[in-house]
Amino acid sequence: MNIIIMGPAGSGKGSQAKLLVKKLNYQYFECGDVLREKSREKSPLGRKIDRIIHQKGELVPDEIMAKIVDNWLEKIDIRRGIIFDGFPRNLSQYRLLKKILAVRNLKIDRVISLKVSKEVSIQRLSKRRICPKCDLEYNLVTKPPKEDELCDQCRVKLIQRQDDTPRVIETRLAIYRKTTSRLVEFIHREGILEEIDGERPVEPIFAEILARLKTPKHLGGGEATTSTPAR
Ligand code: AMP
Repeated sequence: MNIIIMGPAGSGKGSQAKLLVKKLNYQYFECGDVLREKSREKSPLGRKIDRIIHQKGELVPDEIMAKIVDNWLEKIDIRRGIIFDGFPRNLSQYRLLKKILAVRNLKIDRVISLKVSKEVSIQRLSKRRICPKCDLEYNLVTKPPKEDELCDQCRVKLIQRQDDTPRVIETRLAIYRKTTSRLVEFIHREGILEEIDGERPVEPIFAEILARLKTPKHLGGGEATTSTPAR
């Protein structure tokens, strides 16, 4: 089963995706992380991605994304399930992904959309801290480090992500609202959408996601075919 998990910045999709990856033993495409890694490369592409994601908070162009996803799929064992987190973010990326998968006889079986308000997103993101060394993520309220603002593993001072500033957060949320609404509507018509209330603690959300994945879908129109329940 191949799954997309969607949600605005601060929706907790990363936490849910990681739990799913562990529980189902799936492979994980974490788009933001893949792009951050690319942005550290001292190449024209690395510098371009760095500017887009850290200074502007805009989306990386589709043609670059297509190459990145295609290269990633080349390297993994495609027989295992995949969780796509943060990709696709709009209808054109969704169509692109379907094409890239179809070449390998794969398809998207289910799309989980976590719903949270703008206020909750902003509040969560302002409390997010990361370790600059190991990238481990904390939340000063819901998942604080054991001591001060130090990473539990590396003992390094935690920092805010470069794009978690109020101005960049606003841009990211506005882009999400504008671009994903059409995508969500499209996927809903395909009959593979699971909309889930993301304004709850991690555990009940995860339990609901698992329960929904186990329930077979009666597919409507769109381009999807059959769906296999999660193990
Ligand atoms: P995230 O960690 O998911 O919040 O992503 C961080 C940044 O990476 C976003 O603000 C975008 O600039 C970029 N990004 C992430 N996912 C995508 C995507 N699917 N397409 C284009 N740009 C993306």
